[in-house]
Amino acid sequence: METTHTLVIGGGQAGVATSAHLQKHGVPHIVLERARIAERWRTERWDSLVANGPAWHDRFPEAEFTDLDPEEFAGKDRVATYFESFAKARALPVRTGVNVTRLERDGEGFRATTSNGVIQAQNVVVATGPFQKPLIPTVVTDPAITQLHSNAYRNPQSLPEGAVLVVGAGSSGAQIAEELVRAGRRVYLSLGPHDRPPRRYRGQDFVWWLGKLGKWDMKAPTPGTVHITIAVSGAYGGHTMDFRRLAALGVTLLGRAGAYKDGSLHFAPDLRTNIENGDRNYLSVLDEADAYAAANQLDLPLEPEARNLLPLPDCVTNPTLALDLRKEGISTIIWATGFALDFGWIDLDIFHEDGRPRHHDGVSEIPGLYFVGLPWLSCRGSAFIWGAWRDAERLAAHIAARGPA
Ligand SMILES: Cc1cc2nc3c(=O)[nH]c(=O)nc-3n(C[C@H](O)[C@H](O)[C@H](O)COP(=O)(O)OP(=O)(O)OC[C@H]3O[C@@H](n4cnc5c(N)ncnc54)[C@H](O)[C@@H]3O)c2cc1C
Repeated sequence: METTHTLVIGGGQAGVATSAHLQKHGVPHIVLERARIAERWRTERWDSLVANGPAWHDRFPEAEFTDLDPEEFAGKDRVATYFESFAKARALPVRTGVNVTRLERDGEGFRATTSNGVIQAQNVVVATGPFQKPLIPTVVTDPAITQLHSNAYRNPQSLPEGAVLVVGAGSSGAQIAEELVRAGRRVYLSLGPHDRPPRRYRGQDFVWWLGKLGKWDMKAPTPGTVHITIAVSGAYGGHTMDFRRLAALGVTLLGRAGAYKDGSLHFAPDLRTNIENGDRNYLSVLDEADAYAAANQLDLPLEPEARNLLPLPDCVTNPTLALDLRKEGISTIIWATGFALDFGWIDLDIFHEDGRPRHHDGVSEIPGLYFVGLPWLSCRGSAFIWGAWRDAERLAAHIAARGPA
């Protein structure tokens, strides 16, 4: 049996960041990745996906995208090679192609069963991702309709001919719907409550504003908004995700998807409320940005036209509440309905009933067991590239302080 001081499980950005910080502390460790570094960026995202934040922001603080303009949005393959090169340049001890199938207690440490033998470690950092298992909330039982989760969508050409229903209007659903309508498809988009911040305002990207307004560092979601998705896009150079504009491009907007019965999918009568709440969120970011700029005497160009909204489209004022899928020629449903955690391979009493681990800012109740990269691990930024870097820095220091084996 191999032993190591610290075992990191998962070689995405969170695992790579953890390894970099452990290396700085001189902590002996191994990273096990079941596929390749940043596998999810390579094979679980659609072809045209770009980072949601510009290259100056969506990166580790220690390494720039030297081949990109700082305001450009890195393509998903470029993001993957970024993490791979980062790990290579620092000779991080990442072993790829090794799956961890079981994690359990072993004395005061841990025992990991892997596809390549057993490893014993004093500390374990679980970095297997914030978005692990695709969630599909409704059962549509028509075998003639192709159904896939957004993590399996690749491009418009790979879908059967016909209209497409996209369910879910966070960044994934909204971006996929836009790509499909631009490719000439008839598209339906079912949307629930969402936030849709402006892409840029008064010359600054919204990720810059979120930093200035202290929103990345928020400790916990506002009560009642835990499940509100955020619709942003870096596609086509980056623009505000405005559902009125999508409707103007030809997308038929629908309320939140509900039950499927006798060939029809039903939708809640909440479309107008969802759109108007999304608008309110958009306008509130402009208000907060203006107030911040005034209070701090920032010399930024005014942009009053950002407050002009397109009229509400007909599909919002006269919403469709049931869609006969065959009659509408819908050949494909893309479920952009999010992900669940999947820690079934961890045999430790450390989980809430809903599957989330019990921890405080990533430090679990079991000494030596850590989680990194999860949504809201320590703050809003935790599942994002730079946020995982910051959490990893703190957790590596915690591990180093526990002392040598
Ligand atoms: C569509 C989409 C777009 C996104 N865009 C952005 C963006 O633009 N900017 C941003 O900051 N964030 C973005 N995110 C959020 C986040 O950055 C990504 O989800 C990112 O992939 C998370 O990195 P991670 O290392 O925490 O997890 P993952 O990338 O999921 O990495 C986990 C790794 O663990 C491996 N693994 C899992 N289980 C095991 C096991 N048992 N044994 C061994 N290995 C295992 C997996 O193969 C995987 O490589 C996006 C998320 C999605 C879904």
